[in-house]
Amino acid sequence: MNQKTFDIAVIGGGASGMMAAGRAAELGAKVVLIEKNIFLGKKLLMTGGGRCNITNTSLDTDNLTEKIGRNGRFLFSSLRSFGPSEVIDFFKELRVKTRVEEKGKVFTSSGRASDIIDALTIYLRRSGVEIITGKEVLGFDMKDGMIESVRMKDKNISAKNFILSTGGKSYPGTGSTGAGYFWAKDMRHTVVSPVPALSPIKIKGNITERLQGLSFNDVSIRIMQDANKKLERRGEMIFTHFGLSGPAILNMSKSIGEILGKGKTSIEIDLHPDQGYDELDKMIQDGFKDNSNKDLKNHIVDFMPDKLAAIVPGLLQIDPDKKINLVTKDERRRITSLLKGFRLNIESVMGFDAAMVTGGGVSLKEVDPRTMRSKIVGNLFLTGEILDLDGPTGGYNLQIAWSTGRAAGESAANSSS
Ligand SMILES: Cc1cc2nc3c(=O)[nH]c(=O)nc-3n(C[C@H](O)[C@H](O)[C@H](O)COP(=O)(O)OP(=O)(O)OC[C@H]3O[C@@H](n4cnc5c(N)ncnc54)[C@H](O)[C@@H]3O)c2cc1C
Repeated sequence: MNQKTFDIAVIGGGASGMMAAGRAAELGAKVVLIEKNIFLGKKLLMTGGGRCNITNTSLDTDNLTEKIGRNGRFLFSSLRSFGPSEVIDFFKELRVKTRVEEKGKVFTSSGRASDIIDALTIYLRRSGVEIITGKEVLGFDMKDGMIESVRMKDKNISAKNFILSTGGKSYPGTGSTGAGYFWAKDMRHTVVSPVPALSPIKIKGNITERLQGLSFNDVSIRIMQDANKKLERRGEMIFTHFGLSGPAILNMSKSIGEILGKGKTSIEIDLHPDQGYDELDKMIQDGFKDNSNKDLKNHIVDFMPDKLAAIVPGLLQIDPDKKINLVTKDERRRITSLLKGFRLNIESVMGFDAAMVTGGGVSLKEVDPRTMRSKIVGNLFLTGEILDLDGPTGGYNLQIAWSTGRAAGESAANSSS
């Protein structure tokens, strides 16, 4: 078996692993980066619809940690040292121009996610990282509670410190198959059960097939169980062939999964969140007065999207060819109710194949938030999605990868010198 000793071996050449390896080498450490795909950053290519939403500038550190959610406080220190503006400057120095779009989302100006991979590759080469691609890490050799080497098919690589950056379980086709969780458990880390997050949801039946592509910029979404409202959010959503997607749905999906685990769950979509029921009903009633001789189907398109208008009479069992002046008060009120709470039964949250990130992961109680060093294995550092951290859509997950990667690279380099 070939053995070569490095200061640091980084396992996983995704966003956080590349950042960690580059930073450690920049600080003088002898670093090897091992990636099983034949090229680095495969998932990055897909990010932001191929444009890479690298971070988000809409919040300061306090609010950013809060936005990230339940475990966001863990990031306080790493975000303070390498937050959104540092990320933008970092890529600027590597000649990647960025542009801030709505809600503070930062994208590459070129619209090419590949620019980010190219820039990081330049960073790695310039810093002197030895890059190994197309080789899968199969396991670790331990001695006295410390890692001695990583095992690959044809060789072992030994190092003083190891950075585990193998990602979560989402989009396994990009390489993140959850191997890191397995090793972390083996090393006595607690792994909070990984669950799909930022994932579309499946709706029972085939009702959404006919609404496919219909999107709304601002709806209120209520998650209901046994007539109780369990969750409510506002935002954008889109109907898909199998169900619902779009930022508001994706951001609720992890919680929807938890609620679904407790029983039958439905979703109510309020398409007019700024109008009360009576106000909307009055508006519809006034419209009915002005269009009394029209057929119902020809008038409802005036106040709801065509695709919805095509199915509403059928859903409410009202004759679409009925003249408006023959529509009863009860029928009109049922139309209003549908617009204020379009109810659909949820079948499931889509699995890891469709989830943009993974919820759960290595327990943060066992990782130092300033250094990303494991509190269990002295020469192990962890970065990115393998940690029990996930944020909403909008550039927050890559920010987590950059901040934790940077912190791990710096501390591993310092403890190798
Ligand atoms: C479709 C999609 C779009 C997204 N868009 C955005 C966005 O615009 N903005 C945003 O903030 N976030 C986005 N995300 C989330 C973001 O991409 C991830 O949170 C981020 O990439 C996580 O980085 P990571 O380094 O932890 O893991 P990953 O990027 O998953 O990298 C892990 C790497 O480890 C390698 N690896 C795994 N096991 C081994 C092994 N045994 N040996 C060697 N190598 C191994 C994998 O091949 C992989 O390259 C998106 C995710 C998806 C799926």
